[in-house]
Amino acid sequence: MRPFEYVRVDNTSSLADLTAITSNAKFMAGGTNLLDLMKEDVERPARVVDISGLPLKQIQRIHSGLSLGALATNTETANHPLVRENYPLLTQAILAGASGQLRNMATNGGNLLQRTRCNYFYDTAMPCNKRDPGSGCGAREGLNKIHAIFGWSESCVATYPGDMANALHALNAIVRLREPNGGERQVPIADFHRLPGETPEQDTNLRQGELIVAIELPVSAAAFSGHSYYLKVRDRASYAFAMVAVAAALDIDGDTIRQARVVLGSVAHMPWRAVETEAILVGQRLDPALFQRASLAAFQNARPLKHNAYKVELGQRAVARALMRAAHFA
Ligand code: SF4
Repeated sequence: MRPFEYVRVDNTSSLADLTAITSNAKFMAGGTNLLDLMKEDVERPARVVDISGLPLKQIQRIHSGLSLGALATNTETANHPLVRENYPLLTQAILAGASGQLRNMATNGGNLLQRTRCNYFYDTAMPCNKRDPGSGCGAREGLNKIHAIFGWSESCVATYPGDMANALHALNAIVRLREPNGGERQVPIADFHRLPGETPEQDTNLRQGELIVAIELPVSAAAFSGHSYYLKVRDRASYAFAMVAVAAALDIDGDTIRQARVVLGSVAHMPWRAVETEAILVGQRLDPALFQRASLAAFQNARPLKHNAYKVELGQRAVARALMRAAHFA
């Protein structure tokens, strides 16, 4: 690990000065991903700003829904009664991620900012445009079993590895950011992560020095609370990243689907909303054959790589199964 300066801050007003000193500064909360990357020499910040003491841990009702503090841990968030009752999809998604020990340390803000698990990204002897822009993409023609089937570019075929963001995407969450000048802006979760394009080194649309302060869940998303399911398909039952994940949420009136949300995980550089599937579901009566048909539509525009074509059929089956579970048919 390279030498770096460590600074701890305990109030948000002192943040702007600290991060402005160098553009090569990183915020650290739980540190569960950043420290690993620093040890592997992938992340090389000159300054680490420890924000774990900031007062951003509250989970509370607000007029528009529920606010999740950026520094609340994943465990605290998943187990909070208001989350379990109104947004059980989020609880399921968080508990599907990592391990109990990691969820006790990892924070909500950090979870959104976790970086890809592409093996070439972690191996500093290999080319990787995300780690070292302009060096090439080792995975494009290399081993790409875990990589993207949607939205990739010739510069990068990595996936976003998280689970929590997939559920937040289905629930229309808003990310609240503190700007370096002390101002604030809000970004819909759908605009938070980004596709790689020509600049895969940027995982998100966060600007330099911005800090996540909270994630807000709208009241309207509680309409999905009775019929939602998070399905994660992986090589082993715990402490593994998804090959394919599905966040499925239905708003049902009688036996008719009023609204549908289907978001796929680990298939693109960001959570991937299956709009074709949703369009087939809305206005229709609950029916296993409908779910089957809708699941095929989710992958009609997939562009698999050499080693990950299995994700198409696996994903179709996962979508159908998640919808069956959300509708209480299975
Ligand atoms: Fe790097 Fe992206 Fe290529 Fe992986 S897929 S080697 S992260 S550029």
